[in-house]
Amino acid sequence: MDIAALARSVTDGDRRALARAITLVESARADHRAAARELVAEVAQAGRQALRIGLSGTPGVGKSTFIEAFGCFLTGQGMRVAVLAVDPSSARSGGSILGDKTRMERLSRDPRAFIRPSPSQTHLGGVARRTREAVALCEAAGFDVVLIETVGVGQSETVVAEICDLFVLLLAPAGGDELQGVKRGIMEMADLILVNKADGDLKPAALRTQADYAGALRLLRKRPQDPEGFPKAMCVSALEEAGLERAWDEMRTLADWRRAQGHWDRRRAEQARHWFEEEVRQGLLAALAQGEARGLMQALGDRVAQGAITPDQAAADALAALAQG
Ligand code: GDP
Repeated sequence: MDIAALARSVTDGDRRALARAITLVESARADHRAAARELVAEVAQAGRQALRIGLSGTPGVGKSTFIEAFGCFLTGQGMRVAVLAVDPSSARSGGSILGDKTRMERLSRDPRAFIRPSPSQTHLGGVARRTREAVALCEAAGFDVVLIETVGVGQSETVVAEICDLFVLLLAPAGGDELQGVKRGIMEMADLILVNKADGDLKPAALRTQADYAGALRLLRKRPQDPEGFPKAMCVSALEEAGLERAWDEMRTLADWRRAQGHWDRRRAEQARHWFEEEVRQGLLAALAQGEARGLMQALGDRVAQGAITPDQAAADALAALAQG
């Protein structure tokens, strides 16, 4: 495989090359992995950055409708938009909620847009790496905005938050006055809460929900990476394409402020460090399951189970043996 040529085609904005490059980073084969690593390092030379926006929400809140409307709004402004999905359900079932081909029909026909569904059958660690690398490839291909969509379940938000520059939480109007059971941790990650479906009969409920969340956000500790007034909650209607421009203005305000204050670069640096450490951790875990290490773990584990040695002592012995290793 001619990696240098593929990297050139990607940075020239060749969409088929980009699709092929993403297929390469999705592959688990050892030779593909080595090639993918080389490719990602090569395209990084282009030094391009997109605004990476993470978008999370439970199934049914209107993520695909919103991304379609918002994506078309952005391309209408002359921007190039890539959409990637992180779908933890594909890791479990092999089926993908976000991979449905009929979603985002209008956006998928837009020459300024590129949509890539989540690959099936990858574990969450694999999804994280694939998404990170796919984002890097889209940035190198010259996209202005990369939207990273995730279903609001499990750990996938945490993964996306460690990849994106801005994290947007999409909610539906609540029936009562409860805060929809959104976990505090997820709220704390959000830079912008968008209450969708603020139209027709749902509008009053949407406004109430927005007010509830605005109140809840004010109670959170002020973060150094936020200007006054953020994080924010606002209403949109993906269906009626209402509030999209304002949502974009808020995102841009926040992004510009963070760039100017140095938070942007700092966050990307921290994310890079996080992923380096995570890869080492994953690599060590994988190494433990192979070869001599595996035998050693098995043997020490048996002795612990028999009560011949304490778990702590066995762990100390294992680590000492592995360190010599
Ligand atoms: P996803 O599962 O989060 O991707 O949600 P979808 O985009 O598939 O939308 C789920 C349902 O909500 C669909 O029937 C949409 O038509 C509807 N929907 C999405 N956005 C809006 C909106 O802004 N207003 C209203 N009234 N319905 C919406």
